[in-house]
Amino acid sequence: MRISVRQNQTIENLELRIMITSVTDYQLILRQYWGYDDFRGIQRDIIESIGAGHDTLGLMPTGGGKSITFQVPALAMEGMCIVITPLIALMKDQVHHLRQLGIRAEAIYSGLQHDNILRILENCILGSTKLLYVSPERLGSSLFQTKLRHMRISFITVDEAHCISQWGYDFRPSYLKIANIRELLPDVPVLALTATATPQVVDDICDKLSRSSGPTSITSTTGFTGSTGFNVFRMSFERKNLSYLVKHSDDKHYDLIRLLEQVQGSAIVYVRSRRHAREISEHLTEAGLSATFYHAGLDHADKDQRQRNWQHDRVRIMVATNAFGMGIDKPDVRIVIHYDCPDSIEAYFQEAGRAGRDGQPAQAILLYNSSDNTKLQKRINDTYPPKDAIRQVYEHLAYYYQIATGDGYGVAHEFNIDEFCIRFRHFPIQVHSALQILERAGYIEYDEEADNEARIKFLVGRDDLYRLEQVTPEEDKVIVCLLRNYGGLFADYGYIDESVVAQQAGITQPQCYDILKSLSQRHLISFIPRKQVPYIRYRQRREDAEHIVLPANIYEDRKEQYTQRILAMLKYAKTTDCCRSRMLLEYFGEKSTKDCGQCDICLDAQNKTVTKEGQRTAEEKLRALLSDKQPHHITEILRLPLPTEEIDAALKNLVTEEHIKLNDGFLQLA
Ligand SMILES: [Zn+2]
Repeated sequence: MRISVRQNQTIENLELRIMITSVTDYQLILRQYWGYDDFRGIQRDIIESIGAGHDTLGLMPTGGGKSITFQVPALAMEGMCIVITPLIALMKDQVHHLRQLGIRAEAIYSGLQHDNILRILENCILGSTKLLYVSPERLGSSLFQTKLRHMRISFITVDEAHCISQWGYDFRPSYLKIANIRELLPDVPVLALTATATPQVVDDICDKLSRSSGPTSITSTTGFTGSTGFNVFRMSFERKNLSYLVKHSDDKHYDLIRLLEQVQGSAIVYVRSRRHAREISEHLTEAGLSATFYHAGLDHADKDQRQRNWQHDRVRIMVATNAFGMGIDKPDVRIVIHYDCPDSIEAYFQEAGRAGRDGQPAQAILLYNSSDNTKLQKRINDTYPPKDAIRQVYEHLAYYYQIATGDGYGVAHEFNIDEFCIRFRHFPIQVHSALQILERAGYIEYDEEADNEARIKFLVGRDDLYRLEQVTPEEDKVIVCLLRNYGGLFADYGYIDESVVAQQAGITQPQCYDILKSLSQRHLISFIPRKQVPYIRYRQRREDAEHIVLPANIYEDRKEQYTQRILAMLKYAKTTDCCRSRMLLEYFGEKSTKDCGQCDICLDAQNKTVTKEGQRTAEEKLRALLSDKQPHHITEILRLPLPTEEIDAALKNLVTEEHIKLNDGFLQLA
């Protein structure tokens, strides 16, 4: 690997860093904490690069061992690593896992109480924490930025880095705040990671995350050149054990059942709508299959329960919207079926890729028919409604909250989309899209799934609590925990962390939830379960609708990008002559791809190739026909009840071997 040194970094400095964190150290850490002997794939390249202080971008497919690439150097280097990720569930999961390994890790995300955030940040300043996970929208808070100045940071990890690109399929405006953090910490290197990025998005990530100091280009071992000072490492996205299939289906219900009956083992069925998820799950259950469903509209406890039942094979098939799957790592999923077409190859590849993580054969099937074509085209206008319609939604929003022109700045409101649509006669899909566009344009902040922790308040006095009868020992423990951990619950609602209460009471979280519910039904407490509430916050004072500006980079350009993604998805579904795996890999910029030999296109081509046996049969039939020694016209031969390919092969062979003669379209035995 060629290493060139950034202009503002001296050779001595670089060598010193390499000395402190030598390769052996990384391997020792890997062995000590994770028990693996050596790194896989490009893990080592990424670790050495970030360890030497270079801005680094790693492209690894999900399941490629991404987390090791920042967790190992975080332990090897002095100071603390900040990990930015939008996936709260994944964040909690990783923190839990790291703590089990004896590594000090913390997480800050929206919905966490102020006291908790303060305590975590103080601990980070004291220097005992090695990894701090932060959701991107927290980066902008002044509390975070103030405390950050006093911390010693080793490097910043940006997970799901494609979210920073406006050209990506999953752009999140909050990711742009990462650039501010870079300004606050100009000497701290960045490690960007993603499992999905087209070449254009790769360039955009490097560009958005690059330091303002002069660019330096470094060629990595994989031959990629970063033009913005980033070392770019890429692992092939090829999945050798996964067969990609597109099934033309005019009766999707019927085909779905048949496909699921043919394959053993765990399955995911992806659908577009919440209603569809429930209905299809019911439909499968009626057909005698074991199925459940999942979407973002279910409450936390319900989602947890469904996910766990599927994870532990108590239910075989999960019918879900795209809300399902982020951070879920079930290795033995045998089949992923898309009942509806996703709106990008990126989304399809991510979702399909959840099959066969264990390396055993698995299938990714897309059910497709001509009406999908129309539906996908329609999504373009649903996702980018006319500008006037967007302005109208903005105006109705002001009526809805009764905000006068010039008012409303900074105030957050809960948002009930169904109620809004009924009152102002809108369609939810278009309102949703309009709000997202208004958010990108900087007028509002729209968070569909703001996480609110559970809240409780005691409805009886402290003395009454001690005199309670008919309280089970578990209930008693929960009450004691609440009293011990949270003050002021007799006077007002307070946020509680169910996982903490459950842990201290020695029960599971679902048990804790049930107990709180039961106490609430008996009017001992008032309990507001943890839930996700959509909310809207005005980021500017209310404008008159006609003054709302939607520039090209927010509207026209993005609409064009979206259209291109839809067209790419349609091309994938409709193609009849290109290997599916190859199409997917080429979409992500991989050049030296081969036919996979197992997708429907490859299999069709193989079936068309002639077997020796087939050719021999055809030769015998031909000889029999020509045994009268008369000339026969070629059209007569082609009418033989045999596959054309076999007749062709037989003819070719017999002519080459000079057993028969071909003259002016007539055949005759030689
Ligand atoms: Zn193929």
